[in-house]
Amino acid sequence: MKTAIITGGSRGIGEAMTLKLGEMGYNVVVNYRSDSSKALTENVIAKLKAYYSVEGLAVQADVSKYEDCERLVKAAVEAFGEKIDVLVNNAGITNNAAFCELPREKYMSVLETNLISAFHMCHFVVPYMVKANEGCVVNTSSIGGLMGVANQADYCASKAGLIGMTRALAMEFGKQNIRFNCICPGMIWTDMLRGVNQDEVAALAQSIPMGKIGDVEDIANAMEFLIKDKYMTGQYVSPNGGIYMP
Ligand code: NAP
Repeated sequence: MKTAIITGGSRGIGEAMTLKLGEMGYNVVVNYRSDSSKALTENVIAKLKAYYSVEGLAVQADVSKYEDCERLVKAAVEAFGEKIDVLVNNAGITNNAAFCELPREKYMSVLETNLISAFHMCHFVVPYMVKANEGCVVNTSSIGGLMGVANQADYCASKAGLIGMTRALAMEFGKQNIRFNCICPGMIWTDMLRGVNQDEVAALAQSIPMGKIGDVEDIANAMEFLIKDKYMTGQYVSPNGGIYMP
């Protein structure tokens, strides 16, 4: 049986990815942080079993914290063994606030949750992949990592950092058959988008060439592609309705 770990896997894009991993035949370690997401996580794990006959393991952990990531990976290994086939670093937050008014703790929290968490998770997972001489890491970056967005200096920096880390690790571990790639979603309907200024969302949505905001399944499909294509490494794919074209 194959094993995948996903951070922030119980709602939004993460939920769609968790279900896609189940459909692909993986046992899934589903991380969540908030107490309010416990029931959601149990629900998505019940779906894994009912729809795809795979196992799920819920692990509450704040992935911005090194010790929590260590405990998360330990729980995964105890439940499903040392072979971790896929790691999806998906957990993320945003402040969407004017730069000069943003307190240090708030921008540090975005950097730690979106970027440093991926360092922690790779630090604990990659040694198992090296042992197995194979593995696949998918990092949820953003179009914010590719282009500038006002009021999102912390978010854009964290997501661009994720792309840099992905490329460097792809270089370092290519020979060991461990692939690292990013997804850079455009605007996707989730709580994250619902949580920011809706006038700004509406204005931005109008500038999308496809004229619509994307669905979480669009991003889960991109993850499936990155896992399945065995020659893909150090890249990003950006399902974004055409709002960003390099
Ligand atoms: P969301 O619905 O707000 O979900 C965020 C997820 O991250 C939740 O599962 C949350 O867990 C988890 N999370 C946050 N901080 C965490 C922490 N410290 N430790 C563990 N988990 C944590 O947002 P989403 O839109 O699905 O976002 C998923 C990813 O896509 C993020 O990385 C985001 O930056 C990226 N993205 C989203 C969009 C968009 O338009 N929606 C566009 C580009 C990129 P809890 O439920 O426990 O809080």
